[in-house]
Amino acid sequence: MPHVITQSCCSDGSCVYACPVNCIHPSPDEPDFAAAEMLYIDPDACVDCGACVSACPVGAIRHDSRLTPEQLPFIAINADHYPPRPAGVKLPPNTKLAPVLPAPQVRGRGLTVAIVGSGPAGMYAADELLTQDGVRVNVFDKLPTPYGLVRAGVAPDHQSTKSITRLFDRISGARGFTYYLNVQVGQHLSHADLLAHHHAVIYAVGASGDRRLDIEGMGLPGAGTATETVAWINGHPGFTGRSVDLSHRRVVIVGNGNVALDVARILTCDPENLAGTDISDTALQTLRRSAVREVVVAARRDPADSAFTLPELIGLTETADVVLDAADHALVLADLQTVGDPGTRAKLEILAALPEAGESVGRRIRLAYRLSPQRILGSARVAGIEFSGGAGESVTIDAGLVLTSIGYRGAPVPDLPFDETAAVVPNDAGRVIDPATGRAVPGAYVAGWIKRGPNGFVGTNKSCAMQTVAALVDDFNAGRLDGPTGRPAALAKLVRDRQPDVVDAAGWRAIDAAEIARGQAQGRPRVKFTSTEEMLAAARQRPTRPRRFSLLRF
Ligand code: NAP
Repeated sequence: MPHVITQSCCSDGSCVYACPVNCIHPSPDEPDFAAAEMLYIDPDACVDCGACVSACPVGAIRHDSRLTPEQLPFIAINADHYPPRPAGVKLPPNTKLAPVLPAPQVRGRGLTVAIVGSGPAGMYAADELLTQDGVRVNVFDKLPTPYGLVRAGVAPDHQSTKSITRLFDRISGARGFTYYLNVQVGQHLSHADLLAHHHAVIYAVGASGDRRLDIEGMGLPGAGTATETVAWINGHPGFTGRSVDLSHRRVVIVGNGNVALDVARILTCDPENLAGTDISDTALQTLRRSAVREVVVAARRDPADSAFTLPELIGLTETADVVLDAADHALVLADLQTVGDPGTRAKLEILAALPEAGESVGRRIRLAYRLSPQRILGSARVAGIEFSGGAGESVTIDAGLVLTSIGYRGAPVPDLPFDETAAVVPNDAGRVIDPATGRAVPGAYVAGWIKRGPNGFVGTNKSCAMQTVAALVDDFNAGRLDGPTGRPAALAKLVRDRQPDVVDAAGWRAIDAAEIARGQAQGRPRVKFTSTEEMLAAARQRPTRPRRFSLLRF
C-alpha cells in the first residue's frame, strides 16, 4: 500500500530527497517542478518505507489506508501523475537516479550573512547557510514575531501548513543563528550598515503590497483587498485595527487564485470551526456576528483558466457549499470538450459536478466566470460592483463588501534597484543586478517573492533560497565579497542604539510561550497578540540570563 501526498503539500521537496527509490515527482531538478501545483507519489514505485512522512515538514503525506474521507481524491491525483505501465514494472521508463540534495561548500571560515525577512525564503536561506560549519547568520524582521506569511498569510484553517514553523524553530535554534526582530532595515539600519557587519545581505522581504485594481470606487468604504483581509484574519498588527463590515448578505471577490478561495472559505464557514485555531480574536468575533450568506468569486476568464490549484479546489469543495450558475456550468462543459491537460480537466470535472446556484440554501460560495470588473457601485459606501460580461454586456452584482484578490506586489527595497513592471528586485539567480551597469551589486542578494514574484507555495522558497545561497557562496569562495569591518558585538550595540526595542530569540520565545499559554485555556494552538505593544510587553518577560559565578572566587 503506497503513501499519498495530500492537500497541504508545501512543495519544498524534502520528501524527494528522503525517498530511497525516487518515486516522488516532479523533483526540484526537473523542469516541471516550478509550475507544479503539488508533488505526487508514484503508487507503483513506492516501497512504503515512510521516509517521506518523516521528511515532510507539514504532515501532508499519509499512508493510503489512513486518509480521511476528504483526502481520498488524492489517491487518484497522485497516481494520475504517472504513466500507466505493464503489471510488474515498478518504475516509469527513463527514471533517473534520485537527486542528491546539493550543499554549498563554503571554503574558508567566518562567512557572516544578514538575512532581511524571517518568512519561508529567509528561513530556508538560513537553513542552507547553516549546513556549513562556522557560518553565522543574523536574521532581521520588522515585526517582533518571525515567519512572515506563515504567521500572517496562511489561512487559520490550514494549521498543517502553519506547522512548518516547527522546522523554522529548529533552524533558528541552530548554532550561528541570531534574531534581530522588531528592526526595520531601511529605517533603523541601512544596507551599508549591514554590509559593514556582514559579507553579504540576502533580502527575503516578500511582496508586502498587493496589486491594485484601478477602477472607479476603489476608495469607497467596503472596498478592499483579499490580502489585507487575510492579514486581518491572522492578527497582523498592521491590519488588526481595520473595520471589516460583514453586516450585509453578499461579498464579491475579484480574481480566483488561492488567496480568493482562502478568504471565501473563511467568510462562509461556521466560525465555531475556526474557534480552535490561531485566528485573531477580533476576526473571530466579527465572523460570529456576520450576516454574509454568499461570497461570489468572480474571474475574468473561463473555468479552464481558473488560477486556484486543484488541491485547494478539492479542499474547498470538501468543506464548503460551492455552487455555479447555469451559464457558468455551460462554460465548464464547453471547456471540457476542448481542454486536454489532465490537471485542468480534473478541476473542470469537479466544477461540472457542483450544484446549481438555485439549489443551495446555506452560506455558500459561488464561482463565477467571464466577469471583468468595471466599477464599484455606491455613494457613501459600497453597494455592489459592475462587471462587463462575456459578450460585453453589463453585469451588476449587489454586495456590501468588494475585495480584489488579484495578487500580491513587491515593494521597492531601500538602497536596491527595483523593476517597477515586475515589482521585483532585478537579479540573476539571486544576485542583485544594477540595470544601469548590468553588473552584480556587491554583497546584495534576494530570495523568495522579491526575487521571483508572488507565486508558488511555502516550500517553493526552499529551492529558490538554495539557488541564492549557491550564488552567494560562489562569490565568497571566489573572494568577491568584502569581509565585515565590525565585530559581532559591535553589530548588537549598533542595533540596540538604533532600536532599543529590538527583540532577540529569548524575547520571541517569551512571546511564543505567552501566546501558547493564552491558547491553552481555550483549546487553541495560541491566542495571538495583535499589537506590537502587547508583543513587546510579552518579550520583556523573557527570562534574564542566570548570573555566572566563578568557582575560583570561593
Ligand atoms: P494568483 O494566483 O496570481 O491569482 C490572481 C487572480 O487575479 C487571477 O484569477 C487573475 O486572473 C486575477 N486578476 C489579475 N489581474 C486582474 C484584473 N485586472 N482584473 C480581474 N482579475 C484579475 O494570486 P493569489 O491568489 O494572490 O496567490 C498568490 C500565490 O500564492 C499563488 O501562487 C498561490 O497559489 C499562492 N497561494 C497558495 C495557497 C495555498 O496553497 N493554500 C494559498 C494562498 C496563496 P487571470 O488569471 O485572468 O490573470
